[in-house]
Amino acid sequence: MTSEDYVAKKMAQLIRQGATLTQYTCPVCGTPLLRLRSGKYYCAKCDREVVVVRSDEEEREVTIRYGLINVRDVVFSKIMELSRELGKVNDIDDVNRYAVTLTNLLNALGMINKLIGEQGKSTTGPQT
Ligand SMILES: [Zn+2]
Repeated sequence: MTSEDYVAKKMAQLIRQGATLTQYTCPVCGTPLLRLRSGKYYCAKCDREVVVVRSDEEEREVTIRYGLINVRDVVFSKIMELSRELGKVNDIDDVNRYAVTLTNLLNALGMINKLIGEQGKSTTGPQT
């Protein structure tokens, strides 16, 4: 089953449970958002609650939050790339260089996660 199929199936299931499809789309992936019976907006693809923007201030916060999430994704993919490369190198200097970069990236990831956590205090995602 592809992830698209999975998302569609999940959305259908939620709609059967009383959620409604809205005109809003997810700022991260563009998938139409569902409004859950609790009144919260939810992206089935990202599997997270999405804050629908209502004011300029809220919009700024949401933009920052999703910006940070994008940065985190980039940093994470670099970490994965580097760790694959690290597995291939044998020269001690190369290993050292990769290790330093990896450490920096992991630190950055930790900081970004902390920032996202602080930003998201008022809006908790789905507990999975
Ligand atoms: Zn999404």
